[in-house]
Amino acid sequence: MLRIVSYPHPALRYESRPILEIDDAFRAAVREMFTLMYAAKGIGLAANQVALPFQFFVLNLTADPEQPDEEEVYINPEIVKRHGSVEDEEGCLSLPGLYSKVRRAKKIRVRAYDIQGNLVERDVDDLLSRAIQHETDHLRGKLFIDTLDPLVLHGFSERIRGYELEYRQGQTQGLIPANDELLRRLGCLARPSPEGIFTEPGA
Ligand code: ZN
Repeated sequence: MLRIVSYPHPALRYESRPILEIDDAFRAAVREMFTLMYAAKGIGLAANQVALPFQFFVLNLTADPEQPDEEEVYINPEIVKRHGSVEDEEGCLSLPGLYSKVRRAKKIRVRAYDIQGNLVERDVDDLLSRAIQHETDHLRGKLFIDTLDPLVLHGFSERIRGYELEYRQGQTQGLIPANDELLRRLGCLARPSPEGIFTEPGA
């Protein structure tokens, strides 16, 4: 069972590896991620955020489970062109309650595989462009707080220390495994396995 992990879980800093096969286990993980995303009232969720070290994310800009036609899955995404610059507010399900203006490219060209395994290239702007840039950053281990000016980031330092404290308390109480163990699990998942991509060898 997957769950959304919060900063500073090491999965959020992990450089994900590409998806090699779209199989039933992968489709099940995608379904589970949509369910988690809707429950958290988000519009996007990257695999890192559920501690899966793979390059894919899910989106539904309506955040509405009653609008499944709006669901999109981006597999091994690549932003191949960026144009312009625009600032707008962003949040992240792994940094709950933290919102800030973030500067992003206004328009992008994104290339990714969809859930059927078709390579799709699209030019997008506005919220979709912002969401894709935010989620693609996740797959490279980057969070939106990394893009903020140090002066702006400093304003959030108390809240960020709060996340760190809560996380360490979770580990002390045994609710969250130690970072070494989490990194070992991520490493196991990221290694290609003959039983399928989501099977942890020896688990
Ligand atoms: Zn995020």
